[in-house]
Amino acid sequence: MTFYSTNRQSADMSFSEAVIKGLPQDKGLFFPKEIPVLPASFFEALPELTLAEIAYQVLSPYTTPDLTADQLKTICEEVFTFPIPLVEVEEGISALELFHGPTCAFKDVGARFMSRCLQAFSTSGNPVTVLVATSGDTGSAVANGFLGVANIEVVILYPEGGVSDIQEMQFTTLGQNITSVAVKGTFDDCQSLVKQAFSDEELSKEMQLSSANSINVARWLPQMVYYFHAWGQWRKQNPAADASAVTFAVPSGNFGNLAAGLLARQMGLPIANFIAATNRNKIVPDYLETGIYAPAPSVATIANAMDVGAPNNFPRILELFGNDFDALLQVVKGYWTDDEPIRSVIREVNAQGNYLMDPHGAIGYMSLKKYLPEFKTAGIFLETAHPAKFQQSIEAIIGTDVALPEQLQAFLNKPKHSLSIKNDFSELAAILQEQVKL
Ligand SMILES: *Cc1c(COP(=O)(O)O)cnc(C)c1O
Repeated sequence: MTFYSTNRQSADMSFSEAVIKGLPQDKGLFFPKEIPVLPASFFEALPELTLAEIAYQVLSPYTTPDLTADQLKTICEEVFTFPIPLVEVEEGISALELFHGPTCAFKDVGARFMSRCLQAFSTSGNPVTVLVATSGDTGSAVANGFLGVANIEVVILYPEGGVSDIQEMQFTTLGQNITSVAVKGTFDDCQSLVKQAFSDEELSKEMQLSSANSINVARWLPQMVYYFHAWGQWRKQNPAADASAVTFAVPSGNFGNLAAGLLARQMGLPIANFIAATNRNKIVPDYLETGIYAPAPSVATIANAMDVGAPNNFPRILELFGNDFDALLQVVKGYWTDDEPIRSVIREVNAQGNYLMDPHGAIGYMSLKKYLPEFKTAGIFLETAHPAKFQQSIEAIIGTDVALPEQLQAFLNKPKHSLSIKNDFSELAAILQEQVKL
């Protein structure tokens, strides 16, 4: 597959080139030249396929010929080692639990897939430095996905004081090829430092920089896999339902996850509706209501992995609908909420003995409660992180202890190491240049 830039100024690239570069020179986003539609036989077989088998079939059109069939098969088997169950929360509403991986968040899927692609593509040449900005979960997923991978250095930028203790522990305690940098600023500042590094000519001469943010195609594309898997499980549980009578609610920040779901739909996955569910950073819900896209400084909320004021996958969503606003509105609805209603709904659903949601998944749940009476479909919300990742907020909300899953306990009590910089590009450049010398 070749990939073009959504800004249409840069040259087309192969999958491996797009993975290594991360971002086209013209600051657009890589987008596949064609979107293959999978045959009916695939969808018939889907409910019985494993995640790794689904991944192989869904992803091979995009990775061929840069990964051989055997390479892709091995990668899929190494990446999809944990379950992604569809769990009923109440009649007609299920949670897709994406938090059973090593860092308990959905980003494990993309980060693990990307690290293995980059490893496959970097063996021949120079070491690659992966530079990534995180609002919490990306950092831990990327750090753990890339830990100890030969020929790759990882530099993680995060807003000082802007991520939870547990999130911070998951990337600052690893050592080896992982360097963490606390920036005195917001997540958006971190993201713009990363963008600046990529467009800096001097740096790009000295080192091979790559991005592991959700803009990278090797993180973006594998996220489709669990939408197919979820639909397959839902079919199995509801064989009599109309095959497309299902709505996905996607708690969103940078909109990579939603863009992946929409791409899956274009590959033939029969999904009636998607809901773009956000916290007070409601740039996209506002856009869907008004047609005006107005990025704004991010505001802090309890669903902090979605505190994004300039969602960087947004151009892919427009591209998926050929920039046709009305076509987009047919499929995607917007929803947003404040912190307080999130707290109430977590408390209520937990007290009814149904389910303990994390603040991000809870927004998805709330959006289904709003729209399902109108859509008259089943609803699936993405549980994007384990509630224990937000232990302090959740314990304060429900008034009882929340146990850490085993994966997270492993990070406790290890010493944290991170560098600290001002929101200043020259300080970041100095750290990166120092790395090349090592
Ligand atoms: C990253 C993240 C999101 C947002 O995903 P996007 O693909 O950036 O929209 C939602 N919830 C959690 C827990 C996350 O870590």
